[in-house]
This record gives sequence, C-alpha cells and structure tokens, in this order.
Amino acid sequence: MLKLSNITCYYGKVAALREVSLEIHAKETVCLIGANGAGKTTTLNAICGLLKPVSGEITFFGERIDHLHPHQILRFGICQVPEGRKIFPDMTVLENLKIGAYIYNDKRKVNRNISKIYDYFPLLEERKGQLAGTLSGGEQQMLAIGRALMSDPKLLLLDEPSLGLSPIMIQQIVRIIKNIQEIGVTIFLVEQKSFALRIVERGYVLENGSISFHEKSKNLLTSVEVRKAYLGV
Ligand code: ATP
Repeated sequence: MLKLSNITCYYGKVAALREVSLEIHAKETVCLIGANGAGKTTTLNAICGLLKPVSGEITFFGERIDHLHPHQILRFGICQVPEGRKIFPDMTVLENLKIGAYIYNDKRKVNRNISKIYDYFPLLEERKGQLAGTLSGGEQQMLAIGRALMSDPKLLLLDEPSLGLSPIMIQQIVRIIKNIQEIGVTIFLVEQKSFALRIVERGYVLENGSISFHEKSKNLLTSVEVRKAYLGV
C-alpha cells in the first residue's frame, strides 16, 4: 500500500532521515519506534507531504506521492493524527470533527461521517457541544482520531497517541486502535511504549534517521536491547 524507498530529508543542512525504506501492506498495523529525535515524526511528515524528501520515492498504491501537496495526499487517503493531538481548543467537539471533513463539499456526506464517528465514539456525541480544550487528554486523543477518520483515510498515521496519558487512558487508546483495525483502516503507529508492539504485526526501529531493525513485533518485544533502548522497560 505504502512504500518508502531510500528517503532522505533535511532540515536546512542537517539530515533528519537517511535512505529510509519501509513498506506497509493494506489492513496491516505497523509500528515505528525509536528514541527522541530519531526522526519518527519527520518520517510521518514526509509521508504526508509536509516535508519534501531531497531524494528517494514514496508511493501509495503504486503511485508516486512525494511531489504532491499535503491536501492532495489527504485526498488520496492518508491522514495523520499529529503528536500532541493539535485539536482546536476554542472550538466545540462537533466543529473539530467538521474540520476533519474539509475535503468534502457534500453536507450529507459530512453528516453521515459525523454519525459514523459518533457510533465509534459515543462519548464524542455526548460532548459534541463542549469546547475541545476542556476535554481530558484521552478524550482529546479520541477527538483527534475521530477528526482524522472524518476524511475516510485508507492509511492512518498515529504519532505517539499515548503521549501524556495515564495507563488507563492508554488502555482506552489501545481499544480505539483495535476498533480502527477492525473497520479495515491500515495504521502506521509511531510509539515509544511497549503496548504498541503488542497490537502490531511488524515494527521498524529508527536510529539517528536510519532504519536499524525491521522485525516481527514479538521479536522486537523480546529483544532486551530494543526494550532497554527504545521502550524504557
Ligand atoms: P520525538 O520522539 O522527540 O518526537 P522524533 O523521533 O519524532 O522525536 P523528529 O521530531 O522527527 O524526531 O526529529 C528528528 C530530528 O530533526 C531531531 O534532531 C530534531 O531536532 C530535528 N528537527 C525536527 N523538526 C525540525 C525543524 N522543524 N527544524 C530543524 N530541525 C528539526
């Protein structure tokens, strides 16, 4: 479904990604782990078109997307839930959801998607008139994921959804991710916590901008080196 081939990205003169190659197949959930500053967010930003690679190729269903604008990539079916959620705190839950559907002009389609999101996350319907900034961290993450699903993504990029959440809230996020898997959305999950490897099939390890390992998640979970270096356990 998605293929990165030898992607290199720079911030000014500094290389943030060096020859990164990875593949995600349809309906899979794949994880990207790595230390702070390894380039995980940069990888997601390159996929979304927020940062243009200086070399390499990104294809989605076989078509080159690395030259496209972010809004075009969104229309192709790739949507990112950014680190720190980035919801609009002074807008209501419903208004935040509607923003997620900005690619659609058809009001009926938008309303259908809102109903779908309320079916997945009944709490968002209960809180639809509430200002998003007054939601708890876990609820804000749920809203950020719901907003992303409003554009009917085929591939959802989740950047550290557990960041700043309590263990109970992380369990809720795990349930949400499993629900999304069940509805057939492919997920690329960036994480630094071990729960991620329990809900994915494969994982890539990013080290200083390069992929150092690519393994089945059960092998990564049992690797003492990986656990110590990247998962803090
Ligand atoms: P974290 O887990 O802390 O979010 P990360 O693995 O997602 O880290 P990135 O945010 O992709 O890492 O950053 C990779 C490198 O690029 C880091 O050295 C970072 O300081 C640098 N970097 C990130 N964004 C910029 C930017 N806008 N300008 C310059 N350098 C940047």
